[in-house]
Order: sequence, then C-alpha cells, then structure tokens
Amino acid sequence: MNILLTGGTGYIGSHTAVALGQSGHEVTLLDNLSNSDTAVIDRIAQIIGKRPSFVHGDVRDTALVRELIKVHSIDAVVHFAGLKAVGESVAHPVDYYANNVQGTVSLLQAMQAESVKSLIFSSSATVYGVPQYLPYDEDHPTRAINPYGRTKLHVEEILHDVAQSDASWRVACLRYFNPVGAHESGLIGESPRGIPNNLMPFIAQVAIGMRSELQVFGDDYPTPDGTGVRDYIHVMDLAEGHVAALDYLNGRPGWSAINLGTGQGYSVLEVMQAFERANGCAIPYAIAPRRSGDLAAYYASAEQAHKLLGWSAKRSLDEMCASTWRYYQTGV
Ligand code: NAD
Ligand code: UDP
Repeated sequence: MNILLTGGTGYIGSHTAVALGQSGHEVTLLDNLSNSDTAVIDRIAQIIGKRPSFVHGDVRDTALVRELIKVHSIDAVVHFAGLKAVGESVAHPVDYYANNVQGTVSLLQAMQAESVKSLIFSSSATVYGVPQYLPYDEDHPTRAINPYGRTKLHVEEILHDVAQSDASWRVACLRYFNPVGAHESGLIGESPRGIPNNLMPFIAQVAIGMRSELQVFGDDYPTPDGTGVRDYIHVMDLAEGHVAALDYLNGRPGWSAINLGTGQGYSVLEVMQAFERANGCAIPYAIAPRRSGDLAAYYASAEQAHKLLGWSAKRSLDEMCASTWRYYQTGV
C-alpha cells in the first residue's frame, strides 16, 4: 500500500517508516520540520535500502495534503504530526489545539475530498487520566488531565463521529504508552531539542556526559521503590504495531481504540539500573521533588492489541536501553 505518514521525520514516524518499508509498503513522509530534521531520511534509506518520498509542509495545508494524496496515490494515512510536551501544552494551549486538533480536522478534510478513508491516529495513554484501576484497559474512563491529553481525546472523539457518519471510514486510535529506544542499527532514534522532558533521553545524556546527574522526580509514591512506574515500550515494537494495525484496518470499517504497551511497569530506578546494566556505565542521580502533574503509576492492558492485531511487544527493557545508547554513540 501507499502510506502517508504525517510527522514522518519525527521519532515514532521515522521508525514506523522503517517498519512499513520493510513490510513492502511505499511510504511518503510529510513534515513541517518543527521538531525533526531531514537528515533522518538518508538514515531510513540506509536501513531499508530505499529513500522514502518526503514533502516539506504543514498538515494544516489542506490543498497541499490533497495534492500529495493524489500524486502519491495514497491508500491510508498514519497521523503522527503534532505537539507532545505536557508542560508546554499547559502554557500554550492554543498552539496545542491548533496543531493537534485543527491539524487533524484539516487532514480529514483532505482525506474526505480525495476519498481516502483509512487512518491510524497517534493517541496516548494520557487520555485515561487518573487511574481508577490498573492496568488501564480500553474501557477505562477517559479523563485527560492536561491540555495535551485533551487534544488527543478531542481528536479521538472527532474520529469517532466521522466513522459513525460514514461506514466506509476505517480508523484506529493507537494509545501509546512510553515509547523509548532506537532502531537496532543506532542510525535513527530520539534527539530531543534542549533539555529532555522524558526519562530515557535524560539518562542517555547523563551517560554521555552532557548532563551531570539524573533528577529522580519523587521517591515517596505508593510504588514498590517509591519512584514513578510507567509502561516503557521499544519504539520498534511500537512501529511494528502500526504495521499490524494497517493490516487490521484492511476490510474492517469503523472506529477502534487500542493500547500499544507491554503490560509491564518499571520504576524510574529500575530503568536507570537497566541502563547501567545494559551499557556498563554508572548514572549519577539525586532524589528531587515530585514533578507537578505526574501520576504515581500506570501501565497498559495489552490484551486487546494481541486479540485484534495479533501483535504484542517483544523487546526487553535491556534492549530499549542498549539501543538508546547505540544511537547516542553514533554521535547524533
Ligand atoms: P516528534 O515530535 O518526534 O514527531 C512529530 C513530528 O511532527 C515532528 O517531526 C514535527 O516536526 C512534526 N509536526 C508537528 N506539527 C506538525 C504540523 N502541523 N504539520 C506537519 N508536521 C508537524 O514526536 P513523536 O514522539 O514521534 O510523536 C509522534 C506522535 O505520537 C505525536 O502525535 C505524539 O503526540 C504521539 N505520542 C508520542 C508519545 C511519546 O512519548 N513520544 C507518546 C504518546 C503519543
Ligand atoms: N522522570 C524523572 N526524571 C526525569 C524525567 C522523568 O524522574 O528527568 C520520571 C517521571 O517523574 C516519571 C517517569 O520518569 O515517573 C517517566 O517520565 P516521562 O516524562 O519519561 O514520561 P511520562 O511522565 O510522560 O509518562
């Protein structure tokens, strides 16, 4: 199939381009480069032996998206493009609604006009909000607790309405847990701009000497070692989940929401120790106050993904840490 990846030069988009390319799909990447670089295109080409098409532009440019759907004979879209920093979304909600919600509406207008009605949307575990029970399954109430999470929830609801209105739409909202790691080659990975918000890139930057120590945000949570627990998923497992979701959508109209996680939670200290073990290095750290807005613990029920997509995550926490380190050692 010919697949359009909005936000395709970003972290998850680039890894998914590899997984789709290696499964025989033709990929076209659309990105406004607000949080990525064209250098990744050569690296994808190095891994899959073929250079994906790239269009520099904004997903809100409906005319451009219509044109590229026609030119590249697009059959389905994977919609990654958007902003993703929770703290920034609290400070700049309008930017988040404009990019994430308005961006999706513009994309839907282009798809509808060109009769392309298969869509995979990058949603997030943040749609669930404060856990009423764990693991979160897809029936858990959705009560996002910050503007970023609410953009994801609004988009899921918009997509639900669209699928209800026209039985030829096929929509899967994939609720990602915590994607980490890099492609096994170390050629592509996650390079956050500025100080990383997320745990794994921060640990990697301490390991490589860019930062002096990891701040562990809180050690008094009601978790086994007092530090926050999350469901970390290797980005290549996540990427392969998209290939499985595309197969699933083929021939199945309607809307679905599916968790992509491992089902296993790890604490901050466990991740740090796994990084030290996998890479033979020491990570200096200090206990710091809790980060505002953080939840103590959450992890996925991975059953629905297994049942519907025939997919489950395969790679271990040690592989997540080793591939991150390999990527950092390539000097990116
Ligand atoms: P990323 O920032 O690396 O990739 C997003 C890409 O979209 C970037 O390349 C950026 O330049 C591009 N982009 C942003 N706005 C755009 C626009 N208006 N038009 C065109 N391109 C635009 O982020 P990522 O980690 O790869 O995340 C991809 C998607 O997955 C996002 O929607 C994010 O909200 C979602 N998600 C990410 C995580 C995570 O922890 N990384 C977790 C859950 C969900
Ligand atoms: N965390 C931390 N120090 C950091 C970054 C994150 O202790 O520098 C903790 C954070 O409090 C949470 C976990 O690591 O318990 C995962 O945080 P991340 O920002 O990666 O993911 P999210 O909170 O969005 O799930």
